[in-house]
Amino acid sequence: MLADRTRLHIALQKSGRLSDLSRDLLRDAGFRIQRSKNSLTARVENFPAELMFVRDDDIPTFVSDGVCEFGIVGQNVLEEFALGADEQRYEVLAELGFGGCSLKIAAPETLAYDGPKSLTGERIATSYPRIVRRYLAEQGIDAKIVKMNGAVELAPRLQIANFVCDLVSTGATLEANGLRPVETVLDSQAVLIRTTKMLDDTRSKLSAGLLTRVDGVLTTKE
Ligand code: ATP
Ligand code: ZN
Repeated sequence: MLADRTRLHIALQKSGRLSDLSRDLLRDAGFRIQRSKNSLTARVENFPAELMFVRDDDIPTFVSDGVCEFGIVGQNVLEEFALGADEQRYEVLAELGFGGCSLKIAAPETLAYDGPKSLTGERIATSYPRIVRRYLAEQGIDAKIVKMNGAVELAPRLQIANFVCDLVSTGATLEANGLRPVETVLDSQAVLIRTTKMLDDTRSKLSAGLLTRVDGVLTTKE
């Protein structure tokens, strides 16, 4: 399975907000995705490529290691990964125009807020500690980051942290939890990434072919 050098491997989110949109993009680009008994992978019928369905957080690792030549992932996940990697072993080929959201700092509606200096000495709960640390450093603010892997919006109610930094698209989830956005830390959308590991001739040609097809879809959408 590993070192199958005759085909490309494309890492996609298995199930989540990017799953259907990622598959739709590949279908629009002319790739016919085979139904598979095994839900972890699927072959492309009319192109030597195999889709690998994984957690979105694993996609930057797989592409950096060259286990998958391509991947589709949110810039938020990619940036958090990049800030923890000592070397960049992937390249961003295209912004895909879906999966749009922003990483925002939010606070309880009742809490006074008067710009980033209000964060001084506070605790901020987030699943994106590296991005938040960089933001605080840029602002020259000293605050404590509390890493949570999910349910970040609950942190203020649980008195884990006064502030949260989480992904927001409509803001409905924040509002439902009595929170309001106060700062935007990062704007994000889904991107197509490719490993910078050297590919042999076969996969290098396939890679160019895949890119041409995807570019075709993106230009017609512009
Ligand atoms: P996985 O099980 O793959 O780890 P997940 O729960 O981490 O899934 P999703 O909630 O499915 O991830 O979100 C995947 C990506 O969708 C996010 O990383 C982000 O780039 C994008 N996205 C777009 N809108 C939102 C939103 N409102 N909230 C969260 N993510 C969003
Ligand atoms: Zn995830």
